[in-house]
Amino acid sequence: MQLTFLGTSAGQPTRDRNVTAQALRFDDGSWWLVDCGEATQHRVRDAGLRAITCDRILITHLHGDHCWGLPGMLMAIAIAGRTEPLQLAGPRGLARLLDGAYGPTATELPFPLDLIELPDEPRGEPLAGTATAWRARPFAIHHRVPCVAWLCEEPQRPGRMRPERARAAGLTDLRMLGRLQRGESVLLANGRSLTPAEVMDPPPRPRRVLVCGDTDDADALIPHARGVDLVVREATYAGEHEEKARQWGHSTALMTGRFAAALAARRLVVTHLGGRHSDGTGPEQLRAEAASVCPGVDVLVADDLWSIDVPADGGTA
Ligand SMILES: [Zn+2]
Repeated sequence: MQLTFLGTSAGQPTRDRNVTAQALRFDDGSWWLVDCGEATQHRVRDAGLRAITCDRILITHLHGDHCWGLPGMLMAIAIAGRTEPLQLAGPRGLARLLDGAYGPTATELPFPLDLIELPDEPRGEPLAGTATAWRARPFAIHHRVPCVAWLCEEPQRPGRMRPERARAAGLTDLRMLGRLQRGESVLLANGRSLTPAEVMDPPPRPRRVLVCGDTDDADALIPHARGVDLVVREATYAGEHEEKARQWGHSTALMTGRFAAALAARRLVVTHLGGRHSDGTGPEQLRAEAASVCPGVDVLVADDLWSIDVPADGGTA
């Protein structure tokens, strides 16, 4: 599984960075779009993503730099030939946003939009499932408008079957492996019961990715996301501007680093950079500031069209 950054700038695009969007890319080729700033459909194309395989769209909040690309992105999906329903979830107001764009332009989507407006303070209730088995859970975080962090969770998978262990234990009828795989014990010829745990590896740890919207306080979700593989959070400002950041409901690199430390996250990717950090020197300063307060967390700063792996074994890639 891989996360691709489609836009990493705060507020407005710069020459090198578009406004916010991310794609979670799954091994089967499907992907989720998290936020959809203006011109996200261009970045989707540049990233080699196929609009038709988008499985769901998640919006963190309705500030323009996170959602003004939606009317165009949905049309790109339509033009790609989609006819099945598509799930779109985000804070209240999402329906009005699309009505405002599509009403006056007499636009109709050729596929049913399964539009979900979240309650004001969502606490992680998972969305209804889509074709991709991963779960999406919204948690309220503090910003100037209703805003969420999306916790994306892999389903629990069974451990790997080791037929050689079954043979060594005395299982001769290998058709029994299927029953063991389904979690049933089987009886060996010598009368002993062989359990799944004896012949299968322990189940792998499900991967979890947390993508936060703009925020100056996301601490309420710490108990729910402890130990995440990857957390994405904004640092619109450098460390010395905490007062200003809080005034606008944003984070500094230090605030974001402290959050990653409290989560005991494996990795932190800092994004949503303010315009003055786009000169090529700022991002490293933000990275260093965040890293200074979260020892043990791998800290990176996102660039547009840059991807990061979230490996199945929890290691680094
Ligand atoms: Zn915002």
